[in-house]
Amino acid sequence: MAEGPQVDVLIVGAGPAGAAAALALRQAGVKRVALVSRPAGGTLRVGESATPDVSRLLERLGLSGDLAALGHQPHHGTLSVWGGAEPVADDFLRRGFGSGWHLDRAAFDEWLRRCAVSAGAHLITPASLAGVEPVEGRGWRVSLRQGQRVSTVTASVLMDASGRKAALATRLGAHCRRLDRLVALAVMADPVPQSGLVGRSLVEAVPGGWWYAAALPSGRAIVTLMSDDDLIRENHLNEASGYRQAWQETTILREMVKLPAASLVIKPFSAASQYVDQAVGVGWVVIGDALIGFDPLSSSGIAGALSDALAAVDMILCWGRADGAASVQAARTYVQRAESTLRRYLSERQSHYCNEQRWIDRPFWQRRVVPSAGSSSSSG
Ligand SMILES: Cc1cc2nc3c(=O)[nH]c(=O)nc-3n(C[C@H](O)[C@H](O)[C@H](O)COP(=O)(O)OP(=O)(O)OC[C@H]3O[C@@H](n4cnc5c(N)ncnc54)[C@H](O)[C@@H]3O)c2cc1C
Repeated sequence: MAEGPQVDVLIVGAGPAGAAAALALRQAGVKRVALVSRPAGGTLRVGESATPDVSRLLERLGLSGDLAALGHQPHHGTLSVWGGAEPVADDFLRRGFGSGWHLDRAAFDEWLRRCAVSAGAHLITPASLAGVEPVEGRGWRVSLRQGQRVSTVTASVLMDASGRKAALATRLGAHCRRLDRLVALAVMADPVPQSGLVGRSLVEAVPGGWWYAAALPSGRAIVTLMSDDDLIRENHLNEASGYRQAWQETTILREMVKLPAASLVIKPFSAASQYVDQAVGVGWVVIGDALIGFDPLSSSGIAGALSDALAAVDMILCWGRADGAASVQAARTYVQRAESTLRRYLSERQSHYCNEQRWIDRPFWQRRVVPSAGSSSSSG
């Protein structure tokens, strides 16, 4: 196979984590940065609620945190039916955080990629990781599949920003630890006019899981039903009739969002809480969902991805200029940061699920309120 170009840093995955890392590396003066992008299939995207800290992280990347100019809509907070039948509003402004954003997620990701390319990152697309091997004294040789063709790139440092599959880290020996079996079943729907959904997200707990809905800048709404994969199969929630029946059994959601009367296209997404057991290796680092995949209840995936990207870039810059001991310390600091993020997240996740006690005898809630009743698995 022909020897490909040599770059300083190769990033696998061009979602928010990968694009932000490419941008930050170029801004810091790293000369040859390559970003491998495998465009997402389909038009239905999840992950459209950006919390207020996303704007602050974008500003740290030298970008405007005011996303209205790009067509995204202010997101003022969440209406929750959780722990009781009455909806409770939690507005960001009242907590002094400013507003977040309801994103056109595909446009947001594309914008971040364009910012990275304008700053000088080289985008390799459409391409996906096909293999990786160490090269004596030069870092890593990475094989990329581009249609029928396989090309290679040699890189001093690799970043895994490939999302929940952690495609690179698992090839390098890390394992993905999955802590539950949460799946999101997403559909496009329509907000009921004047129902109060625009500018807010809705979360409604039900005996078999919970629902999430948000109005999108396009005028439509995304609706997702979260439950565990076995419960979804058992209750036929992934079939149109089962999904409609479950929607019908909600109290607030069905007043705020209408499902399309015609065919219902239900798209499943893994939403399990998970992490990789190795955040850093010699010459590689894991960021974003590849590092820790959060329960969508936290709405913190995008902020986490941007923040990981900034922290990992700081570490890589330190590797470039420091002696061995300082490089090891930088890696240790990155690992400690990941461990403390995971600990804090797991404790908040449990306390949030414990706030819902109405269906403590039902498997979905039992698994979360009594974690040992849940399941954990590893892959990779
Ligand atoms: C149902 C659901 C709802 C969510 N809601 C929210 C929300 O409201 N707010 C929020 O902040 N977060 C939310 N999230 C989480 C958020 O979407 C993620 O945290 C965020 O996208 C992580 O960014 P990332 O760049 O790490 O990964 P991703 O966005 O997943 O990007 C990874 C990229 O890598 C590519 N890739 C994968 N494998 C390869 C390969 N082998 N080769 C090359 N490229 C590859 C993928 O195609 C993708 O483009 C939600 C998640 C789910 C599942």
